[in-house]
Amino acid sequence: AHVLVCRGTGCTASGSESVMEAFEKEIEKRGLSKEVKVLLTGCLGLCELGPNIIIYPEGTYYCKVKAEDVPEIVEEHLVKGRIVERLLYKERTAEERMRALTDINFYKRQKRIALRNCGLINPEVIEEYIANDGYMALAKVLTEMTPQQVIDEVTKSGLRGRGGGGFPTGKKWQFAKDAPGDVKYVVCNGDEGDPGAFMDRSILEGDPHTVLEAMAIAGYAIGAREGYIYVRAEYPLAVKRLEIAIEQARERGLLGKNILGTGFDFDIFLRLGSGAFVCGEETALLASIEGRRGEPRPRPPFPAIEGLWGKPTLINNVETFANIPPIILNGAEWFASIGTERSKGTKVFAIGGKINNTGLVEIPMGMTLREVIYDIGGGIPNGKKFKAVQTGGPSGGCIPAELLDMPIEYDTLTQAGSMMGSGGMIVMDEDTCMVDIAKFFLTFTQDESCGKCPPCRIGTKRMLEILERITNGEGREGDIELLETLAKNIKASALCGLGQTAPNPVLSTLRYFRHEYEAHIKEKK
Ligand code: SF4
Repeated sequence: AHVLVCRGTGCTASGSESVMEAFEKEIEKRGLSKEVKVLLTGCLGLCELGPNIIIYPEGTYYCKVKAEDVPEIVEEHLVKGRIVERLLYKERTAEERMRALTDINFYKRQKRIALRNCGLINPEVIEEYIANDGYMALAKVLTEMTPQQVIDEVTKSGLRGRGGGGFPTGKKWQFAKDAPGDVKYVVCNGDEGDPGAFMDRSILEGDPHTVLEAMAIAGYAIGAREGYIYVRAEYPLAVKRLEIAIEQARERGLLGKNILGTGFDFDIFLRLGSGAFVCGEETALLASIEGRRGEPRPRPPFPAIEGLWGKPTLINNVETFANIPPIILNGAEWFASIGTERSKGTKVFAIGGKINNTGLVEIPMGMTLREVIYDIGGGIPNGKKFKAVQTGGPSGGCIPAELLDMPIEYDTLTQAGSMMGSGGMIVMDEDTCMVDIAKFFLTFTQDESCGKCPPCRIGTKRMLEILERITNGEGREGDIELLETLAKNIKASALCGLGQTAPNPVLSTLRYFRHEYEAHIKEKK
């Protein structure tokens, strides 16, 4: 039997390290070390219910396991073959108790491509990745495909950037390939900074090799020999797993010189970010890798033409890269058959806020918000009514209940005044004040503004002052109109994406919940 203990950040924070140690000790004490292996794995998704474990071959899923529960699990499940009912996941939407992880509603509606190995393999052991087709896609491109064929495959798949903008990935790769220059770079953006977002962290912690493999494929496709992963220093577990993965890949000739004996050289280096949200913007990120202050610069020139140290540079985020090996192995048509006409494949979301199943999910594009929130997320706690969902983090917007049946796609979300963003999804119930929500996100972007351009530096400050006035019961006539004018001007004139999208939470709440702003102003102190 295999006991898989989730050692993502969520479960580790709720004590999975001590659960794992308790299993190791108990199994040794009972002389079961030959029959039972205890392994760490990445995020299983139901973070709120951690520490989570799965016991194979049955696939029994236990949640909220404590170290003191371990002797009972070993005695009952591993020795006597009996399920420990009290630790099973209990569906909150149905009375039944499910046993296998894949049978519970939370998983049944998901399709895991980027997260395919998270919760399945031990991310610190390269053989486990290899045993699940790892590095097969790299071997395939190096031995059977030309760089242009690789790019054509990515283009045909319809994959779009998962970091926020949704730019077609194949096109980005083509620009970098076609850019003149002998020295080129591949950069992975792992500077996930949206409040409530942990998609990229979970992939890096649970399946770091998929990102390394994809970056090497990208390097081959565009003609680069070096790659950099820019990851937040606040993600120590992701950093540790990446360091281990890079070392193991180098030892096995999958990174470095003459990869797999094909003559292709490619190596990857880590760079740690210090928590500036603006460094998720690609030109600021490049400046930070170069050791300069992380400030955006005007584009063009785009990084594909003039990027790291002035050389053509391909930048994709973690989740975008995680889709590449399956696309190469299964083909562009397979990937393009999932999702919708203009949004192909799947998207990972971190669901939080007022929802029963807080955690990480991966869904096919085109699923409705209702399905995600009710079927997968298990609905709103305490019988409260759903009010809105914020997608796209501080750059996105709030989507109201009347749009719950809207399919999740890049374009529909933008039309609704929000955006896909990197994948944060914060659910609000009937008790939430939408003006407070807008103020929360604007406070965040105001704090994180790098201060380089006046519309963002000064404009967001003025907007925040108005919001504070309104929520303090000191709102004035004309404040709403002033907010709208400032928001439109900032969107039109800020230098980078941070400023251009900062007013979105205010604009979307004004669009759908204007009456709440008006009520605050009317109910003056
Ligand atoms: Fe800096 Fe904001 Fe201007 Fe971007 S929009 S460059 S974050 S001040």
